[in-house]
Amino acid sequence: MQKSPSMVDVIEELAHTQVHDCYQCGKCTAGCPMADRMDVIPSQIMRLVQMGRVDKAMKAESIWLCVSCQTCSTRCPKSVNIAGVIDALRQLSVEQNVASPAQQRTVVFQKAFLDNIRRNGRLKELELVGFFKVGAFVKGPSLTFLFKDSLLAPKMLTRGKLHLIGERVKDRDVVRRIFDRCMSSPDTKDKG
Ligand code: SF4
Ligand code: SF4
Repeated sequence: MQKSPSMVDVIEELAHTQVHDCYQCGKCTAGCPMADRMDVIPSQIMRLVQMGRVDKAMKAESIWLCVSCQTCSTRCPKSVNIAGVIDALRQLSVEQNVASPAQQRTVVFQKAFLDNIRRNGRLKELELVGFFKVGAFVKGPSLTFLFKDSLLAPKMLTRGKLHLIGERVKDRDVVRRIFDRCMSSPDTKDKG
């Protein structure tokens, strides 16, 4: 009988890397611009995955603080794709709905942002704000959060930083096809 792949296997396939190549030198963490804000630093994320503690790694706040700058992967002397591993962890944590409670708004924002681009081909700011605020409110009702920043809107509108109507690209089918292709790829299935 064929053995089903472990979570580590899944991450290695998604990230196209070998997590056991990591020998914990810490160069990834040393170069990471977000490391000092992370609860689990990049080298520790790698160690957790190596040990099969993917469940713990998926719940780390760090994976949502990572800005995908790729510095860690570039610095790694063993060519481990740490940024890819973190991306895979984000994908799996959304699929399994286990993202850190403190980062739920980040998860909602990511979905609202990607859906917005898929619909319009480019960002419609007010629509994004609306979907994000309502989605975040559903996850954790807070009137303070719902109306936070609302006083900034008139200023941003007058300065042209926010657009009431927003624009859409003409051929939105092309954008949708790009999304569909990404979503049907085994590497990015169900992402976002
Ligand atoms: S730089 Fe590479 S080898 Fe060093 S700790 Fe990070 S992932 Fe491991
Ligand atoms: S890709 Fe993420 S983990 Fe890697 S250096 Fe950048 S912020 Fe840090």
